[in-house]
Amino acid sequence: MLRKTLLLLGAFCVAPYIFAQNFLFPLDLRPAYLSANFGELRPNHFHSGLDFKTDKVEGKVVRAVDSGYVSRVGITPGGYGRVLYVTHPNGYTSVYAHLKVLDSRVDSLVMAYQYEKHVQTVDMSFMPGQIPVERGQQIALSGNSGSSGGPHLHFEIRKTENQHALNPLLFYNIRDISRPKILRIGVYPMDTNSFVNHTQKNQYFETISKGNGVFVLKDPITVWGNIGFSVQGYDYMPDQSNIYGFYTVSLICNNQTIYSRTIDEVDFSTTNDINSLIDYEERLRSKRNYERMWVEPNNDLKIYTKLVNNGIYQTTENDSAQCEIRATDIAGNMASIVLRLQQNTVDSLDVRTMPTKQLHSCADTFIYTYEKFQFKAKPRTFFSDFTCAVTVDESNPKKRYFSKQYKVETDQVIFKKSAEIIIPYNLPDSLQGKGIIENCGKKTPIMTRFDDEGCAHAFVKTGGKFAVVVDTVAPSIKISQEKLNDMTNQSYILFKMADNYSGVAKYNAYIDGVWQILDYDSKSGAVFLWFDRARMEFGKKHTLRIVLEDLCHNVFEQEYEFYK
Ligand SMILES: [Zn+2]
Repeated sequence: MLRKTLLLLGAFCVAPYIFAQNFLFPLDLRPAYLSANFGELRPNHFHSGLDFKTDKVEGKVVRAVDSGYVSRVGITPGGYGRVLYVTHPNGYTSVYAHLKVLDSRVDSLVMAYQYEKHVQTVDMSFMPGQIPVERGQQIALSGNSGSSGGPHLHFEIRKTENQHALNPLLFYNIRDISRPKILRIGVYPMDTNSFVNHTQKNQYFETISKGNGVFVLKDPITVWGNIGFSVQGYDYMPDQSNIYGFYTVSLICNNQTIYSRTIDEVDFSTTNDINSLIDYEERLRSKRNYERMWVEPNNDLKIYTKLVNNGIYQTTENDSAQCEIRATDIAGNMASIVLRLQQNTVDSLDVRTMPTKQLHSCADTFIYTYEKFQFKAKPRTFFSDFTCAVTVDESNPKKRYFSKQYKVETDQVIFKKSAEIIIPYNLPDSLQGKGIIENCGKKTPIMTRFDDEGCAHAFVKTGGKFAVVVDTVAPSIKISQEKLNDMTNQSYILFKMADNYSGVAKYNAYIDGVWQILDYDSKSGAVFLWFDRARMEFGKKHTLRIVLEDLCHNVFEQEYEFYK
């Protein structure tokens, strides 16, 4: 696999835009400006496409980048929002997300399906021939739907056979003469016999720019033992104030490349392993993404093109040691920093023997049991070997908890996969069905299943203190009765919905008893109900019934009258 990747990369280095001219741009706006590039480090995933700017407004014409057929459509309150997939005969599928308006043929098929099944979210597939599209044909209007931070077009090119997203800049040439910047670096002692600047703590340094992509540190770094490095910074594009992700990152120590990675492809089944690539603990503290240049055992990312000793630098007695970190963009612009490393002999260090904690193998199943409580992790739940301890807290401030509080402590700040937590609980009959497991420190609810033996089950991806709490408050809405009185000149009813704790799980509305499609935007809580002349008679009084339910089965139900 690695060899195949290397060969491909070789080809790309010689001619980065080997696929140029295969595809049209999806928007008419020229020049095409990006607000995000491929491979950017995002929460729990790599950005899997390009974000094209749309002049800060919705409603720009979106065109099929080549001929083919609409193969899939999605509508969700978060995520991609309204999204279209167009499959092309050349083995690629193009994806257009956060749309405002879909192709009318798609729209009518989707609505028929929604009315038939009474579903508010959609993920439909179509056969070749059902909705054919020509190269350059208008297929949608751009928007801001789903988890979008402002109007733009999220655009992907995928390999149809495995749905891996490819770097679209391998197909499109967008002028870029701006260099990346290396803003900070991290240096890490990798074990209890290793030191950075005489301590066993991770050290972080701000860089100083010398111009022309050259960065330096103020002082040399003192190291001993096995050392890891991380880099934090961005790429830039001409005339744009946005920040972008690096295309390649490499680490060269004493003239040998010991780490390099390139982001040409995102496999959605492993994209979550970005949590192993970044320094997650530092992300929680500083909100900055330091990209680590070593690889943990259960990290399945296929982005690595060269690894020596998994990217971990082993200090030697050589006193002229130096490591260079390089970051490039896809146009070949580079930033680099040379780190001068001073070696320390062990006896000059402030050596305090660290207590060795018991490490569990990340290749094995791990089960911790205390009475009926269990913490269960399947093999490869953690990125690396881990520590784990569980303590029980029987205190119950404000009678908030309906179980003991179980504190799971581990050195793994974020897990690769979810571990199961099983908590014995005690709910009075009046509160049955209202329980949910909470991460007590953060007061965040976690989707919970209750079994018949008095235990609550949930899946968690971090340690924390867990207990069963209840949610007895139904969701609520904000709606203007004044506006409802006369909707004659309105084409929709708008209301906002919210829930105090566990979150809205189901939302439905009925006009004169007939089920309605609701267009829900989870980032704002706004819900649009578009009037459909085919499904209601205009020019009379109607009743609107809204029914909402949260994760703990608390139901909001209310009737309103309106004139339309
Ligand atoms: Zn995007």
